Amino acid sequence: MHFEDIADRVSEVRQRIGAAAARGGHGQNVTIVAVTKTHGADAVEAAWRAGLADVGENRIQEALHKMDETSVPVRWHLIGHLQRNKVKGAVERFALVHSIDSERLARAVHEYGASRGMPVDVLIQVNPSGEETKGGFSLKELPAAAERMAGFTGMTVRGAMTMAPLDATEIVLRRVFAGAREARALLARTCGAHVTELSMGMSNDYEVAVEEGATMVRLGTILFGARDQ
Ligand SMILES: *Cc1c(COP(=O)(O)O)cnc(C)c1O
Repeated sequence: MHFEDIADRVSEVRQRIGAAAARGGHGQNVTIVAVTKTHGADAVEAAWRAGLADVGENRIQEALHKMDETSVPVRWHLIGHLQRNKVKGAVERFALVHSIDSERLARAVHEYGASRGMPVDVLIQVNPSGEETKGGFSLKELPAAAERMAGFTGMTVRGAMTMAPLDATEIVLRRVFAGAREARALLARTCGAHVTELSMGMSNDYEVAVEEGATMVRLGTILFGARDQ
């Protein structure tokens, strides 16, 4: 695949994001994170040529492999679950880890950041719908966990991330996204002024996410077409 029409897709998505941001009234800037999982390094290069400087991957091995295959200077985002034993050796390659989904993982990342003498930039993954199959902190457990994580000097909390349930109705989507926005506000009060980002919205729900205040949308299918895996 050569992704010939990606520039047109990016320009349409940017227009839709602009309109959604205006409707939502949160006044935020929105970064598109191009999700290149299952595609090759050519997708990363196509995204870069189309003006996208942020790329998201959900599997470490696949991401590291792609990083070695291309030299375009994109920022790499880790958007999938991270195992504690993979923190060392992987985290340093990413500009932002979106998926801090437990306090044990947060502690492992903190310990790594402290040992290398430079904090790791992270988002805290939240699960406002309480869906069993989704990772992340519930809104109920977040306040106490955030108090403890505020002391984790080896990581810098930049914001919150969430994934909405598949096939959610618009009412549920808005509840989940508004819940993530509340989580960001709580993290900002607890962890400090560097909490500004809200990573939410995928190909099928990014406009609602932007209306609800998303500052980062993670888009795969709408940019690169359907994945066959
Ligand atoms: C795959 C993935 C996306 C992108 O999904 P699309 O529906 O293809 O846009 C976004 N976020 C996460 C965490 C993903 O794993």
